[in-house]
Amino acid sequence: MSTNRTFTMIKPDAVKNGHIGAILEKITAAGFKIVAMKYTQLSLRDAQEFYGVHRERPFFGELVEFMTSGTIVAAILEKENAVEDFRALIGATNPADAAEGTIRKMFATSIGENAVHGSDSDENAAIEGSFHFSGREIY
Ligand code: ADP
Ligand code: MG
Repeated sequence: MSTNRTFTMIKPDAVKNGHIGAILEKITAAGFKIVAMKYTQLSLRDAQEFYGVHRERPFFGELVEFMTSGTIVAAILEKENAVEDFRALIGATNPADAAEGTIRKMFATSIGENAVHGSDSDENAAIEGSFHFSGREIY
């Protein structure tokens, strides 16, 4: 995967609350091209592996339970400076701290149920993208 890509998930809260269309609109309006996308659901093992870096954190159990609680939308996005620009577009982890106009400010419920995921580095974008998509699923 090239370094101008990032990986995102629309999390179960935002799917349940009917925000898929509005979030995709924000993403494309910000200049990201969607090069792969699907509905999927994380198994317990998937979520534990995907968020493995947080295994020792006090919120890990809650995070895994939440992320396996419903359908998600997984997508790979392409844009110059994708990782950093997407993190700016989604805003701070806690919606209470997120800037006005960011996706989390607009659509997140709480620090845990915060509407979207965005990779935090080019390396993790590649790992997370290939966790969810095979080469044939990427446009
Ligand atoms: P980000 O998604 O902004 O990169 P982190 O990597 O720190 O944030 O955390 C991963 C996810 O874990 C967050 O998006 C959120 O869903 C959840 N999370 C983080 N901190 C907390 C917390 N204090 N309480 C509950 N859930 C949390
Ligand atoms: Mg993170």
